[in-house]
Amino acid sequence: MAKFKLLHDRPNCIGCGACAVIAPKFWEMNDDGKSDIITGKHVDKGWQELEIDQKDFDINLEAAESCPVEVIHIEDEEGKRKI
Ligand code: SF4
Repeated sequence: MAKFKLLHDRPNCIGCGACAVIAPKFWEMNDDGKSDIITGKHVDKGWQELEIDQKDFDINLEAAESCPVEVIHIEDEEGKRKI
């Protein structure tokens, strides 16, 4: 099964809440007003990451497309950006 990496440029999140409404299994709002990837790993520069399966690609793509500041990204196994 193909694996993708979900990425969140958290410092630039404006906390609109769209991702958490669209994909609540993967996104939740934090008390600091920004969203978090649920069970996401904290990485460099305040970003978060989570490996996701092919079956979870579409819902996270929808979340990424809904983000007004385009801080949600998805990479394939070769590190190529899908959004
Ligand atoms: S949709 Fe984008 S700006 Fe809005 S809470 Fe999610 S990551 Fe942050």
